[in-house]
Amino acid sequence: MSEQTPEMDDLLRIVPTARYGDDAGEGRGGALHLSSVLPAVSDAIGHATATRVHHDPQALRGALGLPEARAAIVVLVDGLGYWNLAMRLGHAPYLRSLMRDGANRRPICTCAPSTTVAAMATFGTGTCPGVTGMAGYTQLEPASGRLMQLIQFKDALAPAPAPGTTRRQGAPAEPIVDPHLLQREPTVFERLAAQGVPVTSVGLAKFKGSPLTEAALRGGRYVSAVTPNDRVRAAARAAREPGLVYLYIRDADKVGHNHGWDSEQWVGTFERIDAQLALLRREAPKGTLIVVVADHGMVTADPAQRIDLAAEPELTQDVRMVGGEPRALMLYTGTDVDPADVAVRWRARLGERALVRTKREAIGDGLFGPVDECVETMLGDVIVQAGAQVTLVDSRTQSDKATRLPSVHGSQTMLEMDIPCLIDIA
Ligand SMILES: [Zn+2]
Repeated sequence: MSEQTPEMDDLLRIVPTARYGDDAGEGRGGALHLSSVLPAVSDAIGHATATRVHHDPQALRGALGLPEARAAIVVLVDGLGYWNLAMRLGHAPYLRSLMRDGANRRPICTCAPSTTVAAMATFGTGTCPGVTGMAGYTQLEPASGRLMQLIQFKDALAPAPAPGTTRRQGAPAEPIVDPHLLQREPTVFERLAAQGVPVTSVGLAKFKGSPLTEAALRGGRYVSAVTPNDRVRAAARAAREPGLVYLYIRDADKVGHNHGWDSEQWVGTFERIDAQLALLRREAPKGTLIVVVADHGMVTADPAQRIDLAAEPELTQDVRMVGGEPRALMLYTGTDVDPADVAVRWRARLGERALVRTKREAIGDGLFGPVDECVETMLGDVIVQAGAQVTLVDSRTQSDKATRLPSVHGSQTMLEMDIPCLIDIA
């Protein structure tokens, strides 16, 4: 049990790689992992649903401490890491009341990279990035040889449409890859719906049928509402029917990226989210199981620890493309290059500031879980994870704003990897 928040230096240290499966032994992960949440909840509502990574939903439910219930609401609060939450608990009376329960005072792990697209697919399928093929904010799209961005499934470096062309202003670019073809693993929502279990996702209207939703969280019906409180009420209403309800809360991540998770604005957002969760608890039918999780935590970036690859010729030598994001890079090398040589140069330059592994080393460590052959080709040849408050940006291809976000995530530090899994019964 984590009774006290570790020192910031410890929170910013890279932790051992989490293990996938039902039991991690002495290691991190296993049942205490984002991938086990939906399989465990499926067992709690009497429709145990195994996945390729998790074979024993009942054991997961036991390890996470979920009681049985006729209906469950799983809330994913984007960007609300366990330690981010713990350090601001004074602002959140409802979450504070949950954290008084010792059973909730244990973080679970998210996936690596600790980023939204990878975590959503890990959560939605109950598997891992090596299976879902969603392994970074941007990654190689093997058919085109280009980098794609996995929020909208669009070309990551696509030039803006030429003046006078037809794309509606503000309309997202057409996905360059069908989300169903990239992410082929069935989601837990699909598996439950196939058993006749009612599944309801509640979120913003613009995410209905979006490429990320289709890839990671497809299945069941999608309900949208304009205000956060109306979404909370819609989720509570859906739980009148036995089954599974999923509610997505976005703003902690959004405000964290724009203002920093340590800002006044973030605290205000956190207070509103706490009030929304308290409303959910009040409105949900009696006996409903409520589980609050997140996809990753957040780290404050330090401008003095910002490294711009545009000014680092020894880092970009033999690197054809840089995927991922500022805390978790995937370096794609030229075909006639030994990735180990690139890794050696990066280790020499960055020292303690990052963990640098070749793809083979990272897969051997189980970083992505079991890796399908078709997914392996999408992963970078060298995987770099930033420690401390380091960001590794590239002003040649990223907007200035994107290279200077006040809070970031993606790497394997405790602050980014540890997420809550808070359990309540309405
Ligand atoms: Zn996120």
